[in-house]
Amino acid sequence: MKYLTTIGLETHVQLKTATKMFCSCSLKFGEEPNTNICPVCLGYPGALPLANREAIKLTVLSGLMLGCTINKHSTFDRKNYFYPDMAKDYQITQNTHPLCLGGGVTIQTPNGPKLIRINHIHLEEDAAKINHYGQFSGVDYNRGGTPLMEIVSEPDLSSQDEAMAYLQALKQILVYTGVSDCNLEEGNMRSDVNVSIRPEGQTTLGTKVEIKNMNTFKGIYAAATYEIARQTYALTHGKVLVQETRRWDPDANETQSMRSKENAHDYRYFPEPDLVPIALSDEQIAEWRSSLPELPSARRIRMMEEYGIPEYDAGVLADARENADFFEATARLCDKQLGKIVSNWFMVEVMRLLSETGKAIGACALTPAALAELVTLADQRVINGPTAKELLPELFEKGGMPKTLVEARGLGQVSDTTALEAFVQQAIASNPKSVEDYKAGKKAAAGYFVGQVMKLSKGKADPKLVGELVARALEQ
Ligand SMILES: [Zn+2]
Repeated sequence: MKYLTTIGLETHVQLKTATKMFCSCSLKFGEEPNTNICPVCLGYPGALPLANREAIKLTVLSGLMLGCTINKHSTFDRKNYFYPDMAKDYQITQNTHPLCLGGGVTIQTPNGPKLIRINHIHLEEDAAKINHYGQFSGVDYNRGGTPLMEIVSEPDLSSQDEAMAYLQALKQILVYTGVSDCNLEEGNMRSDVNVSIRPEGQTTLGTKVEIKNMNTFKGIYAAATYEIARQTYALTHGKVLVQETRRWDPDANETQSMRSKENAHDYRYFPEPDLVPIALSDEQIAEWRSSLPELPSARRIRMMEEYGIPEYDAGVLADARENADFFEATARLCDKQLGKIVSNWFMVEVMRLLSETGKAIGACALTPAALAELVTLADQRVINGPTAKELLPELFEKGGMPKTLVEARGLGQVSDTTALEAFVQQAIASNPKSVEDYKAGKKAAAGYFVGQVMKLSKGKADPKLVGELVARALEQ
């Protein structure tokens, strides 16, 4: 029997705010434990929360980017549970009226594009972090109260590959929008993974298992793969699956049962009495909408048209907003027909330097003006290609403008035919053997002379012109 897989993801994304969701404590990462805390995020009796406006804005921006409907009236609720990671014994979240409804993410699959629908996005506070040290555990309340938005997908994903594609696409959009760093190492993006399988032909979904708190894409892939195999084995051996919560153990490479799945009513949700509802006007939403960046997919198409670059280039460039911004700033400073050449320079030379140094484009000294000048100097054959490539690492490392370097070091290309002809004659005169080879039909010998002339010109000759002069001289 064939089984079909269904995966739904609840993805918690840390919003890029300076302070916590309901107090003004700092969110700087990596601080000494329990230093960024106050009566509100420690849940002291009588301490009152105040909602972070920036967190509301960032959630709305995410909703707009993902095609959601924004709820103009949304409210906070208390989710009650007892655990040391939540000093108040309840988490403030949104249960009945979340900020965003609907929307979706389009992923690419082998069968073409597929829309993964989003059920809703709600805003909540993170719990504290519990660290385990062999014999004891410690609670770090620095993380307690961090603003999180939870993006709940519909169960539209039908394989672990689709789950990966969805998370990659989601991450790209959120980083692009600037709402989160989605830094997986810092736990900025964590998912609960719901997996079920059912026999082909059955319309109702199978028994759902939730794998909690996965913070790497690799882990999600491995856990989903394991869970699909475990469930398939159980069903084909006549066993009954139970609805439960499981944890992923990366060392054992398996999921393990944690507890039978609680139902929503176990949390005794009720409206948060200490916070007023969030009321958003149409004008406010419109103002935030106007600050949205262009989506990568739209940008790809526009860049192809505007700069005449192929789809592949546009895809690579649009992938990271910083890179696309740099490319566009450079291309706009160059002649219109140089779009493809600028994209070559960026994708080959600049990206190689970025990967070698591990730097982001914003952290290197190269400016769009310098790259545009370099590309233009090479295009106008003021300098030759090898010289331009030699200058780039220096501009990348130390900054400055290529024209200044070319003038100061006399790197200008020798395009003076008389000077070059003298070098050609000199090369021919000192290599009679290669001339014979050429005349005997070894046309490749011409390349040798071009190399000799380049050497005589100390690399500054225009290689194209040299090629022409060598061919002409050898034919005589
Ligand atoms: Zn606080």
